Amino acid sequence: MLPFAAPLIAMPARDRVVLLGTKGGPTPSPFRAPASVLLVIEGRPYVIDTPNGVAGQLAKAAIKLSDLRQIFITHNHSDHVIDAGTLLVLAWGAGLDSPVALHGPPPLKQIIRDSLAASRFDVAARMREEGRINLGPLVHVSERSNGGLVYQDDRVRVTSTLVDHYTVKPAFAYRFDTASRSVVVSGDTTYCPRLVELARGADLLIHEAMYLPGIDQLAGENAPKLREHLLKSHSTTEQVGQVAAEAGVKKLVLSHLVPASPSITDQMWLEGVRKHFTGEAIVGRDLQEV
Ligand SMILES: [Zn+2]
Ligand SMILES: [Zn+2]
Repeated sequence: MLPFAAPLIAMPARDRVVLLGTKGGPTPSPFRAPASVLLVIEGRPYVIDTPNGVAGQLAKAAIKLSDLRQIFITHNHSDHVIDAGTLLVLAWGAGLDSPVALHGPPPLKQIIRDSLAASRFDVAARMREEGRINLGPLVHVSERSNGGLVYQDDRVRVTSTLVDHYTVKPAFAYRFDTASRSVVVSGDTTYCPRLVELARGADLLIHEAMYLPGIDQLAGENAPKLREHLLKSHSTTEQVGQVAAEAGVKKLVLSHLVPASPSITDQMWLEGVRKHFTGEAIVGRDLQEV
């Protein structure tokens, strides 16, 4: 029991892991936003992937865009990177005046350069009218082609591994180790032993997932070809369960759901997972804290 006059202990700001969106693929859906993840570590936000609408999702998660400092891109498919430049411009418009670093595979530098070029008119106008500092010099992109240590500060150590996303190379999974938790984000990948190694013993694995019977239904006559392509690039629910089991993670969250159809129930998503993984497993929802 605490003594009656125990001094109040200052609690550190609660760490959060938020699913900003949970669908896979570039086509907008009325049911789910495209997959990306927000970590808030002792009050500081870290963003993994910047799909369409990510700035709005961050606002819904109560993040001030001007607080952004570190952004991690798993790979350069549009459903992971298309709003990177947009997010930077909107953060700058919201008062960003400190450097922002983006980490990801090539050609991320070119993607950001071209994307920022599209906002040159707006940036010049606001510098002129609102006295803002220039956005360009605040943006730092570091490209990597191999896994390893990506970034480290006083709150988090970020490591990565190459995953297997068929012809889209390089593609990364990231692991975030903080004082309170270890969190792994798979990126897009088919079953990959390197991801098992990265996720070894993690508290939380957020993994992409594909529900094959749902794809067969959507694809119709084109099904065999589409199925073959998807199997080389993405993970079935059975494979996700296999990775979680082999890595021995404490909790598994399915995200980047393909297809993102509401007719596929949580039970259907988890059925394949359960063949291999007996730990805690959930199907992610937009803006859910996991
Ligand atoms: Zn994707
Ligand atoms: Zn992809």
